[in-house]
Amino acid sequence: MREAPSAAALAEGVLAGRRAVVARALTLVESSRADHRAVAHELLELLAPHTGQAIRVGISGVPGAGKSTFIDALGTRLIEQGHRVGVLAVDPSSSRSGGSILGDRTRMAALTASEDAFVRPSPSGCHLGGVARATREAMVVLEAAAFDVLIVETVGVGQSEVAVAGMVDTFLLLALARSGDQLQGIKRGILELADVIAVNKADGDNLGESRVTARELAIAMKLMFSEDDGAPPQVLTCSARTGDGLPEVWQAVLDHRNQLLASGQLQQRRLDQQKQWMWALVEDGLWRDFRDNPVLQQASPQIEQALAAGELGALEAAEQLLSLSRKRASTTPTADA
Ligand code: GDP
Repeated sequence: MREAPSAAALAEGVLAGRRAVVARALTLVESSRADHRAVAHELLELLAPHTGQAIRVGISGVPGAGKSTFIDALGTRLIEQGHRVGVLAVDPSSSRSGGSILGDRTRMAALTASEDAFVRPSPSGCHLGGVARATREAMVVLEAAAFDVLIVETVGVGQSEVAVAGMVDTFLLLALARSGDQLQGIKRGILELADVIAVNKADGDNLGESRVTARELAIAMKLMFSEDDGAPPQVLTCSARTGDGLPEVWQAVLDHRNQLLASGQLQQRRLDQQKQWMWALVEDGLWRDFRDNPVLQQASPQIEQALAAGELGALEAAEQLLSLSRKRASTTPTADA
């Protein structure tokens, strides 16, 4: 990053919707450098009063479920209706493999080319907590820049779904028709998070099988939800390729959100999310303190080597690192000492 502009200058550009400034603000909130974090905090405080109104939707599904095709098609429709659409991704694999499943620039070609959309691939943070933190903060930036529909995409692998469900109003699961063991194909934990389910690729020869899958999923969801949980999630079919069923899926998302709004649950959900966010920030901060601790930086290559050479077990190695970090924390002078 070039020399950082002030938080006030960034906030002004973001609120005016200037794309280059929005991009810079996103890069800033993605950074974990201590000096960047300080400016980012100030920026987020300036932007926060201009947020809270956007429709926040999480979209999940296994690779190949059609997420990017779906978001491209849905987002384009929403823009035609006058919305401005921000798309973010939570994909912690981007840091491990060096290549993000959700970061490919050729995805979502129509949205990427639109002035009324902002598509941002997953930041390559070092762990899920860091990626989730950056994504939440990116949502604040995009919302302040007047993107009124925010879509957060993630892959159907588990922990990242939980993180995304913790930052959106409605969680949409894209499923696929499969013969035989279709219900085993989707993790139960992910089904439990879903507010709306859409069986995608319901077109051509696949149409009949998709409808059967949707019926079976609807029955499974009914069984999983008790009466106290309210209505079970709607299960629909759609085709991101032909556009069939997309308006109905969007309407189901809006219905879910309106229900939350009418019952006061939306406000409660967002308050709960603030609490989750606080703990996510603590987790991220602890991890950064740990990583930036010079004593650990010095000791960890040796400990890793000993582990690789089989001289230490993982348990013992982790314990050594943790006890070094505790020693350091307990010898750090406090402000009033
Ligand atoms: P992602 O990995 O979940 O983002 O999936 P993609 O959007 O990249 O889609 C994976 C493949 O499925 C691509 O070849 C798409 O063209 C195809 N695809 C996506 N949606 C549909 C659909 O509704 N119908 C059909 N027939 N193919 C689709």
